[in-house]
Amino acid sequence: MPSADVDIAILGGGCAGLSLAARLARTRLSVRVIEPRTHYADDRTWSFWRTAGDPFEDCVRAEWRAWSVFGEQGETRRGSPSLRYQTVNAGAFYERALSLIADSPTAAISLGVKAGGVTPTDRGWRVDTDAGALTATILVDTRPSTQVPRYGQFFVGREIRTARPVFDPTVVQLMKFRASRSGGVDFVYTLPFAADRALVEVTTFAPIPPPHATFTDWLDDEIGALEPGDVETLRHEAGALPMQVGFGQERPDGIVRLGLGGGAARPSTGYAFTRIQAQADRVVAALTRGEAPDTRIDSAMTRFMDRVFLQVLATAPERGPALFECLFRNAPEDRLERFLSGSTRTADRLWVMASLPPLPFLRAAAVPA
Ligand SMILES: Cc1cc2nc3c(=O)[nH]c(=O)nc-3n(C[C@H](O)[C@H](O)[C@H](O)COP(=O)(O)OP(=O)(O)OC[C@H]3O[C@@H](n4cnc5c(N)ncnc54)[C@H](O)[C@@H]3O)c2cc1C
Repeated sequence: MPSADVDIAILGGGCAGLSLAARLARTRLSVRVIEPRTHYADDRTWSFWRTAGDPFEDCVRAEWRAWSVFGEQGETRRGSPSLRYQTVNAGAFYERALSLIADSPTAAISLGVKAGGVTPTDRGWRVDTDAGALTATILVDTRPSTQVPRYGQFFVGREIRTARPVFDPTVVQLMKFRASRSGGVDFVYTLPFAADRALVEVTTFAPIPPPHATFTDWLDDEIGALEPGDVETLRHEAGALPMQVGFGQERPDGIVRLGLGGGAARPSTGYAFTRIQAQADRVVAALTRGEAPDTRIDSAMTRFMDRVFLQVLATAPERGPALFECLFRNAPEDRLERFLSGSTRTADRLWVMASLPPLPFLRAAAVPA
């Protein structure tokens, strides 16, 4: 019987597919990425607290040592002696990944090709694509999930240049809470690249996305309030991220799922980049040991905490701003940031739990999953 065309087929060459392929490009395993895009654009930025190394560290565009949350009690500013909040440009990331793949004798990417159905075979998998069939021993699927999450993070933003210096380039504004326009938890997120240049995003945590006009009017109002004069728009960005415990959870069909469709977004925050890197590291480690990869990141305790937190946000969104303020005011240095980045350390989890008022969480914990 003929062997498979490749050891590993990766469906989807976005953040997760390329993160994995960039790592596998350094191994002896043969890899093919299937990606419908014919070329890549600088379509987003990924921001996160750096807690571990990855092949994309040279793609960091900016980093900050301080971040803040604005709520009813004013500004809560935090910093860290050891953690940095960093931003990676998607354009630089895609370029790096493609060059690692191009330099590898065993890795390749098929651009402009869409994957369709997948079928198990005696030797692994057959993938039907619009450019013919491909067989692989291991199948990694990073295509977006068709599942609609019960709760999510929705955002619309613009990177702008202002006529006057209106931003403090030393502090990231993680959440500036606003009276809710969406029915969910609404806030403004600002990544200040310079005193006159920033990505400004209006964001909501809600069960369904707000109408597009609600978002664009709100963003115009926020930018107009910052700078009534000339504003140049350099880039647009928008997204909808799942915030649901168990979203994209591993199904027992032998397909390795990575990225948002594989449960990479942290249910309580939507942060996914560092978790995608962790998933990619795990897959490579398992495959080089000849084991089946397990891409589940969260422990039962973390899933329970996230479920309870989301239950509180979904049932009482008006409490959201005070809860986030409480977390950012009370959690000890670095513990919250590590927790938000996916830390599984028990001490981090316990400190985060201890930083929140117990009553709403006890009520939410009593609601069945
Ligand atoms: C605008 C934006 C900003 C974000 N910012 C942050 C952030 O600051 N921090 C953070 O942690 N997370 C962030 N995220 C969340 C998350 O990190 C990203 O969504 C990330 O790109 C998810 O990676 P992925 O590989 O799962 O999905 P994608 O990067 O979307 O990749 C999926 C790929 O599958 C391909 N595909 C689709 N259909 C097919 C098919 N039939 N066959 C083959 N391939 C297919 C797509 O073309 C795409 O390339 C952001 C998301 C967005 C949208």
